[in-house]
Amino acid sequence: MLVLLTTTALAMPRFDGTSRSTILLAEAAWGYASDCTDREAPSTEVVPIVRGPVNGGFAAEAQIGPDGLQQITLGQADAPPVVIFHEVAHAWTGRGPSGLVEGRTAVLADCMARAAGAAVSFDDGRTLHHMAPLVDWTNEPRDRLRRHDTYTAARRWFAALDDALDKGELFPRSSWPSWEAFREDLAGRSAQVDELLEILDLPLVLQVQAMDELV
Ligand SMILES: [Zn+2]
Repeated sequence: MLVLLTTTALAMPRFDGTSRSTILLAEAAWGYASDCTDREAPSTEVVPIVRGPVNGGFAAEAQIGPDGLQQITLGQADAPPVVIFHEVAHAWTGRGPSGLVEGRTAVLADCMARAAGAAVSFDDGRTLHHMAPLVDWTNEPRDRLRRHDTYTAARRWFAALDDALDKGELFPRSSWPSWEAFREDLAGRSAQVDELLEILDLPLVLQVQAMDELV
């Protein structure tokens, strides 16, 4: 019997763009992300990688629509692998609050970089004095220090959570639309997970201290 799975199965999209090297990099990134999470991510059938203006002072931007990843916009030609890895990783983290999305995206991008033998996120381990509370953070461009420190905090916190969970659990097929849904889903999973969740409720000055211990 012939079973056609292709209509329902998720698969790598066809990346489309002018730079062959960028397309190859995106295809490799997709493979690494699939391996890191043990699943495919939703996307449109074709995902254009275009050069264009990117809002908010970012190097690049992944557009996530109702069907998943639908376009990657690069602020400059020949984006380095770390940028492509991050934007492709967004296909696995979907839409939601900044900290919830960017922290998980950074953890996945680091897994992809390790698989590729590339450099992972730089973190000198310093105290993140300028971070915003993770749950309240909206990723606005006006304060670069605040953005940098909060990105780093989100990555440290989600990396610790990733260690406390089984492979791929941070990247479920249907992503959490809110911190409330995320916390409800994970609360009570283990003492280690609950300890990490408690950090989110601390006053900011104590959150900053807690992030020191997660380096
Ligand atoms: Zn991002």
